[in-house]
Amino acid sequence: MSVDQSRPAAVEVAGLRVTLDGTQILHGVDLTVAAGEWVTVIGPNGAGKSTLLRAVGGLLPATGSITLFGTPTARLRRRDRARVVATVSQSPVVPPGMAVSDYVLLGRTPYIPPLRRESAADLAAVTEVLHRLDLVGFADRPLTTLSGGERQRVFLARALTQGAPLLLLDEPTSALDIGHQQDVLELVDRLRGEVGLTVLATMHDLSVAGEYADRLVLLDAGRVAAAGPPGEVLTEELLAAHYRARVRVIDGEHGPIVVPVRTR
Ligand code: ADP
Ligand code: MG
Repeated sequence: MSVDQSRPAAVEVAGLRVTLDGTQILHGVDLTVAAGEWVTVIGPNGAGKSTLLRAVGGLLPATGSITLFGTPTARLRRRDRARVVATVSQSPVVPPGMAVSDYVLLGRTPYIPPLRRESAADLAAVTEVLHRLDLVGFADRPLTTLSGGERQRVFLARALTQGAPLLLLDEPTSALDIGHQQDVLELVDRLRGEVGLTVLATMHDLSVAGEYADRLVLLDAGRVAAAGPPGEVLTEELLAAHYRARVRVIDGEHGPIVVPVRTR
């Protein structure tokens, strides 16, 4: 376990409220992610998972406090925040015609001074990440010509090139078949060990969510309904109450396995 309790928490969110177009979406969310920890937010559609991640990533205005590695984000300029936190959003915009290597280079934007070109170090960072994610063969291909799984690796590559110690992953595997899902999640977990990343993710597949996360946070209607190790959150009672789902929870090798059961 690479969780480091002696360092300040990677994420400390208190009383977070977000209102979008006059509708309050998050109603006072508290959340802590220790440095090196992997926390996954689960919850029914529309619970506010993406909104929470976007607020933590500084992509949405919010009230309450967000502190990343001991620094309140209100005090961080955009470029400085981008050096601390990298986001892979649920459906990233794919610029038409852009080659994979140019897209991954966008991750270096916070390091390139305005009106200047990228440095040799920026290009070296791109090359390193392309190697690490087994994407060298795709470098010159237009991003739009890649398959869903290949594209997902490129989105991750762009975020890693940013060199931020905190990675926010919004449903990183929802477009992938189970083989590619495992590839991407194993890769993130490996990188967590190799470069000491902290991961805050959202995920729909509950068994998979529990297998990879140290802790789960169950969000429902903009409020935290439960939080803790997967075994405490993935219970038949909590899933019935918050998803209106009838499930069986079975003990698996790496945590609970959630099986939907037909009601009639
Ligand atoms: P999740 O990721 O958990 O499915 P989201 O965070 O995407 O949920 O959305 C939470 C709620 O906020 C949903 O009910 C959604 O319709 C609503 N929402 C998202 N964006 C806006 C907006 N711009 N204006 C009003 N409501 C919004
Ligand atoms: Mg979402």
